[in-house]
Amino acid sequence: MTGRRGVPYTRDMRPDPLSYLGDELSALKAQGLYRSLRVLEGEPLAHATFDHQSVVNLSSNNYLGLATHPRLRAAAIAAIERYGVGSGAVRTIAGTMELHMELERRLAAFKHVEAVVVFQSGFTANAGTVSSVLGKDDVIISDALNHASIIDGARLSRATIKVFPHKDVDAARQILRDIPPGPRKLVITDGVFSMDGDLGPVSELCAVAEEYGAIMMVDDAHASGVFGRNGSGTVDHFQCHGRVDIQVGTLSKAIGVLGGYVAGSRTLIDFLYHRARPFLFSTSHPPAVAAACIAALDILETEPEWIERLWSNTQFLKEGLRQLGFNTGHSESPITPVIVGEASRAMAMSDRLFARGVFAQGIGFPTVARDQARLRVMPMATHTREDLQYALDMFGVVGRDLGVIG
Ligand SMILES: *Cc1c(COP(=O)(O)O)cnc(C)c1O
Repeated sequence: MTGRRGVPYTRDMRPDPLSYLGDELSALKAQGLYRSLRVLEGEPLAHATFDHQSVVNLSSNNYLGLATHPRLRAAAIAAIERYGVGSGAVRTIAGTMELHMELERRLAAFKHVEAVVVFQSGFTANAGTVSSVLGKDDVIISDALNHASIIDGARLSRATIKVFPHKDVDAARQILRDIPPGPRKLVITDGVFSMDGDLGPVSELCAVAEEYGAIMMVDDAHASGVFGRNGSGTVDHFQCHGRVDIQVGTLSKAIGVLGGYVAGSRTLIDFLYHRARPFLFSTSHPPAVAAACIAALDILETEPEWIERLWSNTQFLKEGLRQLGFNTGHSESPITPVIVGEASRAMAMSDRLFARGVFAQGIGFPTVARDQARLRVMPMATHTREDLQYALDMFGVVGRDLGVIG
């Protein structure tokens, strides 16, 4: 290759200022924490092919199989034919399409709230909301295991961040009690915790927030399409309607497409239109995304069997893992951790399972505590009993080989 004046492009003319990145990667390799990306060949199905290997896929958030559902595909294709592939602008300039408004109206009805605003992802919904609703004089009271997007949003807000131990409602109350009068306060929890699969104490935290006049927020990413009537979330599951000021959901997991949303009062949503930076400064979804999400809501409302199948597969898989003698923690959702201790052991177990046709992602520090490395398994509604039984058999073989179970 040569440049404009025939001068060869070369990288050896100066020391690489990014060389420290390579050093950090080497350190990850030494700790057994380096990961290469597994490549999905074909569709994200319950039984899928990654890296030329056919596997029972226990690592997808496509809980209900909607990512490949014929009605979602048809809706997306029709929207492309009718409206094209991109929206062309941010929502606040020329990028608000009728489909975006229709999706938001449908979500508001689904969540029984006044209004909803859709973001490009659940990540931007959390980060954009927390960082705009709170400011530097305020206090955020946050569960220790809350999602990274909440943590980033809290940091961007410049508010004081007080972390309470996981699910410890008394500790949250103590923090609120110790705050002198003045600052605004936000209590925030995940509805379903993404690494442990346990549920946030939503109702108890609502009571604490009410006692101290705090704003209450729930991130329902893994609960969207899974908990509550028709998959409408943990606020419905715990019957806390009207007590949670800000609900975040995702369209990227059980809904099968892409996006995040905030559900709440009309005032909250109008405020986010004016202040949430990802909404203001990043282009809106392509019409196909909005159309597919609307089709997913139709399915949640008319085909309850998908959620029923997800839960019956969840019960089967969890029961099988426990009977084999694995430590599955305190999960109450389809997310089931298989806790094995050291990160290197979790990665070895994940690799061996993969070689035997089961994809269960290994997860280590810093995503989870150092001695809590795990495989994280999630069934889908579309797994057959044979798929799940095969996976359990392989967990038994590999778990015994590695001495994780007796
Ligand atoms: C996945 C997840 C998000 C982010 O959602 P995306 O739509 O994937 O960006 C936010 N919060 C929690 C708890 C999650 O698990």
